[in-house]
Amino acid sequence: MRAFRAVGGTPRFMVSGTGPYLTDADGREYVDLVCSWGPMILGHAHPEVTAAVQDAVARGTSFGTPGEGEVALAEEIVARIEPVEQVRLVSSGTEATMSAIRLARGFTGRAKVVKFAGCYHGHVDALLAAAGSGVATFGLPDTPGVTGAQAGDTIVLPYNDLEAVRAAFAAQPGEIACVITEASPGNMGVVPPLDGFNAGLKEICAANGALYISDEVMTGFRTSKAGWYGIDGVRPDLMTFGKVMGGGFPAAAFGGRADVMAHLAPAGPVYQAGTLSGNPVATAAGLAQLRLLDDAAYAKVDAVSAELRSLVGDALTKEGVAHTVSAASNMFSVFFTDEPVRDYEGAKKQEAFRFTAFFHSMLEQSVYLPPSAFESWFVSTAHDAQALERVAAALPAAARAASEAVA
Ligand code: PLP
Repeated sequence: MRAFRAVGGTPRFMVSGTGPYLTDADGREYVDLVCSWGPMILGHAHPEVTAAVQDAVARGTSFGTPGEGEVALAEEIVARIEPVEQVRLVSSGTEATMSAIRLARGFTGRAKVVKFAGCYHGHVDALLAAAGSGVATFGLPDTPGVTGAQAGDTIVLPYNDLEAVRAAFAAQPGEIACVITEASPGNMGVVPPLDGFNAGLKEICAANGALYISDEVMTGFRTSKAGWYGIDGVRPDLMTFGKVMGGGFPAAAFGGRADVMAHLAPAGPVYQAGTLSGNPVATAAGLAQLRLLDDAAYAKVDAVSAELRSLVGDALTKEGVAHTVSAASNMFSVFFTDEPVRDYEGAKKQEAFRFTAFFHSMLEQSVYLPPSAFESWFVSTAHDAQALERVAAALPAAARAASEAVA
């Protein structure tokens, strides 16, 4: 995405960030509506996070031993997210989902994994699978380098379709270890779960002896104090986290039911390890950020997001551009279609060429949007009135560019 493959043109090389702004190598300042794809929820170079990092760095950067920082961060996660009875720290969202799936397979003694088309869980081989033909068939590799065997135990189903999930379980009784889903997807654009979808997944998993894994790498600590769990209250067996919890550093985690986590090494037989896991600098950054994320901070991020959504929607309406602003708490994206989007197939029906024109006009006017029509926009507590005014000033020309765009 950062290479601008989806929108064309030259990627911007950023050299610094402060609050809601990024500065590129040519000295040009942009309002940042990507926030490093989610982590920077307090804006760039927040003074308290920076101070915590500087303090940690001065005490040494990696010990390869247990440390106080990882325990404090683990306790903060457990305190916020009730279904997390035990948690293991890792260094990226990819590692978190990969390890959660290994644990689910080890715990259940089963091989197959259900995922949904349009959900992204990092570059885990088994999860880089595309839907085979028909419902409940085996997955096919989505990229060179993933073998048929690696993708073959993955079942890819349409999102928001509980019937497809029931059919997959019926077709393969006793074979499915887990269902993994983004708690509320943000990687096909923002497509929230329909009412009852996550609860239905949980119910089907429980009825079939499979684990329900909620991937909160993107939504965790962003969509509320307790992430998407804090919004829908559906209790997963395992959860994965990343992005916000690292405060801009590589820290991620997976956790959940204590009886499941007990199967993880060293207490149990399922292997998992990492040289830099629980890194003292990363945990200091994550902890400093999480401690600043109180109710007032989430209210601020929600308000910024609501204002931005209405500014964007009004500008596109004024130019007669068909669009849907799709939101899940403070995450949102703009689909260039007026059809409601419920799954990846629906998302792909939008007129993405209009987004390309819109994106480049905003970029020209120094507003940095996610460089794809299929990504969430992210804002922070640092997006103040001045930053929003700069976005508002750029929107009319961008909406006009979207309206005049041709496929
Ligand atoms: N899961 C979700 C929902 C994500 O959005 C991402 C990254 O965007 C990942 C997992 C992978 O995280 P990472 O890029 O830290 O490996």
